[in-house]
Amino acid sequence: MKIICIGRNYAKHIEELANERPDNPVVFLKPDSAILPNKNPFFIPPFSSDVHYEVEVLIKINKVGKHIASRFAHKYYDEIGLGIDFTARDVQQQCKEKGLPWEKAKAFDGSAVIGNFYNKKDFNLENLSFQLFKNNEIVQDGNTQSMLWKIDELISYVSQYFTLKKGDIIFTGTPAGVGKVSENDVLLGQIEGLKAFEIRVK
Ligand code: ZN
Repeated sequence: MKIICIGRNYAKHIEELANERPDNPVVFLKPDSAILPNKNPFFIPPFSSDVHYEVEVLIKINKVGKHIASRFAHKYYDEIGLGIDFTARDVQQQCKEKGLPWEKAKAFDGSAVIGNFYNKKDFNLENLSFQLFKNNEIVQDGNTQSMLWKIDELISYVSQYFTLKKGDIIFTGTPAGVGKVSENDVLLGQIEGLKAFEIRVK
């Protein structure tokens, strides 16, 4: 399986990192080795002193598809979830300055937290509320209403480049409020009031 991630999909997050608003979704990949095994703590990697959490809504692809039109995209997923796209912000900054790819900053071991999945039928995907709590304090409070590109548009867009396969996961971008993690932090993700994951940082 592969993990396809979207960057810069919420205007306020683009502003907080002083990025340019893109004309098209920003896309990058994480390998399956990036997945943080269930119940494992997240270990801050030695090559970064500024790892950020980014809470994101996840889509799990349910069948093979390519060149999917937006109006048919809803047929390619039944489940949504919540996760974290851990980002070594200092490494990413160096990559950006040099115009280099982001993988070292975004695709390292443990950088993909994948929480529980839920049947999409139980939610209003156009108005889905989700939060990240750090040590019981809310640090990110997002809603899919604020996405620049909606879920079905993202599926359509990425499937022009990558054949989607059953089990692939799309990270749909983070809202504002990203920040640094420190040892012993506890990160709890919630979607419509349901606890989707809880991670300890080491
Ligand atoms: Zn992200």
